Amino acid sequence: MTKKVLKFGGTSVGSIERILHAANLIKKEHSKGNEIIVVVSAMSGNTNELIKKSKSISEKFIKRELDLLLSTGEQISTALITGALNELGVKAKSWMSWQIPILTEGEHTNARIINMSVKKINKYLSEGGVAIIPGFQGLSSVGDITTIGRGGSDATAVAIAKIFNTDSCEIYTDVDGVYSSDPNKIPVAKKIPKISYDEMLELSSVGAKVMQSSAVQTAMMYEIPLQVKSTFTNREGTEIFNQENIDYSKAVTGVAYSKDDAKITLIGVQDKPGVAADIFEPLDKNQINVDMVIQNISPDGKTTDITFTIKRNDLKKTIETLNLNKKIKFKNLNHNDKVSKISVVGAGMVTTPGVTFKMFRALADENINILAISTSEIKISVIIDETKTLEAIKKLHSIFKLN
Ligand code: ADP
Ligand code: ASP
Ligand code: MG
Repeated sequence: MTKKVLKFGGTSVGSIERILHAANLIKKEHSKGNEIIVVVSAMSGNTNELIKKSKSISEKFIKRELDLLLSTGEQISTALITGALNELGVKAKSWMSWQIPILTEGEHTNARIINMSVKKINKYLSEGGVAIIPGFQGLSSVGDITTIGRGGSDATAVAIAKIFNTDSCEIYTDVDGVYSSDPNKIPVAKKIPKISYDEMLELSSVGAKVMQSSAVQTAMMYEIPLQVKSTFTNREGTEIFNQENIDYSKAVTGVAYSKDDAKITLIGVQDKPGVAADIFEPLDKNQINVDMVIQNISPDGKTTDITFTIKRNDLKKTIETLNLNKKIKFKNLNHNDKVSKISVVGAGMVTTPGVTFKMFRALADENINILAISTSEIKISVIIDETKTLEAIKKLHSIFKLN
């Protein structure tokens, strides 16, 4: 007997018709004799609507209450899919995360799953039932409902696969696998049949939201193979697993983008030891994450310019923190939040020289200015003008032969 986690994303349960479709898919898997745990996201758009409602009351809506609000999205879809399975004659039962319980640690809206109780659910599975569990939510040590970050149902699915020691973890979504770029934006993007954890982690952390990055991180840590496939077609999906047996004849596996960043330049900062620490220490204290940093050569030996990027949501807080910082002096502060981050990712880069140069040349040929750069062993990211996003992705896609 095979024990499986089947996770259905928001679009896959986005309407009653789709819920019935997903229920039929679950029924089919169950009738093959598999033990099935289903993880469900909120119906598509629902979480965004709830966030919007909270904001219409207050931009600073208390996070404990926000988690309570957001968790209702998954409660609805969990109940509906359980009802649909019962209607199809399948024995199925739902549990909210507090009923299991799924325990989390960390702050509200961004908690992490640390453990869950398996007893009740394992008993139900052994009696031939299908267990339906909401993604995205958990319970804190003081008994409050928490959520685990946007796209977090993926992380719930992976945590369940680990803690229940299942044979597979299948992520059902609205595309039929992981592509070389977002297939909804770049129609010539190609499906990647097999991809390593490292590459998927880099791709999802720079914007490929088809898998949530912390879910990939957990899967990598515990070597849990993942399958990404379509709820709506029978086509082969993508396997995410260990690096071995993957063909690295291509330097670049995928191109991703995100519009979550903002760029800040401090002009005329004193050029002396310790100044960078003085700039960034208060940002760190305010939990502002700095991504890329560029410091120009000082033309006069006295002052220099420092450019760095942060999350767009942190822009206001960052400017306030810099202006309040008594330890630093600068002539001017420029900021730009109309930028996007374009990244190329590929484990093949390690053995293929010249990827960086090719990327920069390709962007230059399109007259696209690079505003900041960062690299890792298997990733190169650049910040560019937001309006050039699609042009850049298309060009990189073609230059690295991903079409
Ligand atoms: P779900 O609700 O099922 O979790 P998401 O919306 O979170 O689905 O993720 C699926 C979406 O990810 C796709 O509709 C697609 O637009 C987007 N996407 C971005 N980059 C990629 C990529 N490289 N491959 C596949 N899909 C991608
Ligand atoms: N409903 C949550 C979100 O929209 C979690 C998820 O869909 O994975 O972020
Ligand atoms: Mg998702």
